Amino acid sequence: MNTPAKPSPSVPCPICGNPASFSPKNPFRPFCSERCKLIDLGEWAKEGYRIPLAEGETEKNENLN
Ligand SMILES: [Zn+2]
Repeated sequence: MNTPAKPSPSVPCPICGNPASFSPKNPFRPFCSERCKLIDLGEWAKEGYRIPLAEGETEKNENLN
């Protein structure tokens, strides 16, 4: 039997535009992934509010495209 699953609402990720699940299962909503959430945080951080990086951590500038 194929019970139709209730489709979880999704919104376009503000960062990459991919559908992002807008459900409690997605801790990164409204982003599609942790990566996009961090990118967004990085974007506003650039506006002048810097979060000090923990020692040993370096900023990664990954180009995943
Ligand atoms: Zn995304």
